[in-house]
Order: sequence, then C-alpha cells, then structure tokens
Amino acid sequence: MQIHTKAVHAGDRKKPGAQTPVTTPIFTAASYTCETMAQLDRIFGREEEGYCYARYENPSNAALEELMCALEGGQGALACASGMAAIHMAVMTALADRRKSIVAAGALYGATVSLLMNVLEPAGVAVRFADVCDLDQLRTAVAEAEAGCILMETISNPLLRVGPIDRIAELARETGAALVVDNTFATPLLVRPLALGAHFTVHSLTKYLAGHGDVLGGIVVTGSEHFDNLRALSRAIGPVLGPFESYLTMRGIKTFPLRMERQCANARRVAAWLSAHPKIVHVYFPSDPRHPDAAAIQRLFPPDLYGAIVSFEIAGAGREEIFRFMDALQLIVRATSLGDVHSMMLYPVMSSHREISPKHRERMGIGEGLVRLSVGIEAAEDILADLEQALGCAP
Ligand SMILES: *Cc1c(COP(=O)(O)O)cnc(C)c1O
Repeated sequence: MQIHTKAVHAGDRKKPGAQTPVTTPIFTAASYTCETMAQLDRIFGREEEGYCYARYENPSNAALEELMCALEGGQGALACASGMAAIHMAVMTALADRRKSIVAAGALYGATVSLLMNVLEPAGVAVRFADVCDLDQLRTAVAEAEAGCILMETISNPLLRVGPIDRIAELARETGAALVVDNTFATPLLVRPLALGAHFTVHSLTKYLAGHGDVLGGIVVTGSEHFDNLRALSRAIGPVLGPFESYLTMRGIKTFPLRMERQCANARRVAAWLSAHPKIVHVYFPSDPRHPDAAAIQRLFPPDLYGAIVSFEIAGAGREEIFRFMDALQLIVRATSLGDVHSMMLYPVMSSHREISPKHRERMGIGEGLVRLSVGIEAAEDILADLEQALGCAP
C-alpha cells in the first residue's frame, strides 16, 4: 500500500462494529474500568491487550502510533509530548543494554546538542561528535568511543548535509551500536530509516507531519526488538502526548504526503530561482549536482523529492542587512520552526545556532549572511515575489 493511502487509513476504524466512528475520537479518560477484577488484573499484567491508565496507553495515541508505524515501517511507536522528549526516549532505550557512549553527528538540531551536553553527559553518558558524512571518520570515532549509540539527522540543519544512512546502519550492526535517526526534515515520504537498517526513527511531529503550526509533539518508531524497553521506560517517565494533540496530529497526517509533495516542488522552484539571483552567493539544496553528498542523496531519496528547506547566503550581508531583508518580508513568516503549510524564515545565527561562538559557527559554515527558508504550500509565484521585493531592500 502506498504512503498516500496509509496516511488516510492506518490507525483509524480499529474495531469495526455496527457504529464505528470514521475517525479516532479524543479519549480524555485518565483510567479505564473493566467488568471484572480478573480482567483488569490481566491488563495490568500485560497478559491481555487493553487500557488501564493513560500514562501507559491511550486509544487516541494508539491510533497515531499505529499510523506512524505504517508510515515508517516500524513494529512499535511511542507518541511523546515533544520531539525532544522522543529523542530522549529513543536514546535512553538504545543505551539501556549497551555501553553508555554516544557518537553524534557534528551537525544537529540545537536542542539535541543541549540534551547531549547538558543532560546526558552530566548523567554519565560519554558524548562525542563526528562528521557522519565522512564514513571513515565516523568508523574511527565509533571504535574509539566504543559507542552504544549513533545519533544523526537524515538531513542536517541548516546546511542540509545527508549522511549515508544505509552504510552507517551497517557500521552500527557491525559494532553493536544502535542507530537513532531524527527523520524530521526528510519525513517518511523521502526516507524510511528503519528500512535502511536504523534501530529507531524519531520525529518532531510539530513540523511536517502535523504541519499546521498548532501542535507540539514527537514520536519514536522502532522494531519489535526494542519496543518493550521503550514502553517500560515510558511507563516510568511519562513523556506521553496528550489526546488532543494526538487528534490534531492525526488530522494533519492525513494530508501530509500531499502537502510535502507540494512543498518539495515549491522548494525546487525557489532554490532554482535563488541560484540565478545576482544577490545570492550560495544556495544550499539537496538537488544541487555539486552537493557534497550527491551520491547518498541519489541513492536514498526518491526522484524529484529533496525536502522543502532551502538555505541561502546573501552577498555581503551581515546581521544588519539580514534584519532589514527579513523585516521586509510580507508573506513569509519570520519565525522559528519549519514544515508548516505557510513559508517561514529563520536566521540561524540568531536562533538555532545562537549559543555557538562566531568562530565555531564560521568553521561549521554558518555565516552572518545565511538564512533558512522552510517553503510552504502557497503558490510558488507568491513566495518568489515576496523574496524578490525583500531582496530589493537587502544591500
Ligand atoms: C524541531 C526539531 C526537534 C525538536 O522538536 P520539538 O517538537 O520542538 O521538541 C528535533 N529535531 C529536529 C530536526 C527538529 O527540527
């Protein structure tokens, strides 16, 4: 079954009866009762499937989890209150019976770096960073660190590097490490990391999957091997998504493949237009044949789908010129986050990479003139017109 079909059917109408709701209701109950104590006892003991307490399982979340398993090709999922909670749960589960050592991609979402440095490392987990696009460097780092976990993003932020997940998964299997892939930027329309050998895939549901800028959520999807540990950890910690958010996310996902296709097509047009613009010195977009990871992109991505983030550098611009350019935007929303139906622009130096020193940023290739655009579903002509008029206000 194709992803467009799964997106509108999976998870809903679980137990068809005489009167089956066509979409999954919002179950707000904190606890569940049964006809008999004996049955409640079996449910508590997990000998029988069923619900007893909302921190353990909730039917609204169960529907979303089944849907995400269908989209990502997993055996079990856990819906969490945020993308960060999902990353935390995936990493903790990965390390449960492995060496407490992580090798993480050098380019990662800022809050993920914080989680590693400010939460996990002080708790005794060894953390080391490596360039996941350089397989030899990664292999050395994994061996030296005796890594229990490799953590990476499918498409990095904001320079859109793409590591060879399939080869990295092989390395993980050879060394006994678990591979955790944050698939937020690529979505399962482009890449399904579990099918490439990853052990966990995680999402910030807040972005493309929910897609409307009105819900915060995250999810971990995994195979059967790790699912019981993931659930047990979740029962103890309680990071679960609320039922209202679950409902909004499921509603969003029904149109996610359509939205994402449109966003990818719009992004291709925007990237091509920017590349030809005299004020733009560099466009970062995975369709570029000179992209440093072109081989992995061609192998892993479907034709014509390159994601919907375009980063670009304005010639000679510093903070002041970027502020003027972004203040001039009339359609594109100046805000953090990405993947919404509306186009949004962010200034990495001010937001996602604010805490990093200018020198270190420069070394990472993130200069004062770089902006990141999340392309929405609007008419491409209107996005281009807004960029054109705002660039007129740039240096
Ligand atoms: C937004 C984001 C997160 C964090 O998700 P929240 O829902 O904000 O907690 C993690 N990884 C990536 C790649 C993201 O874009």
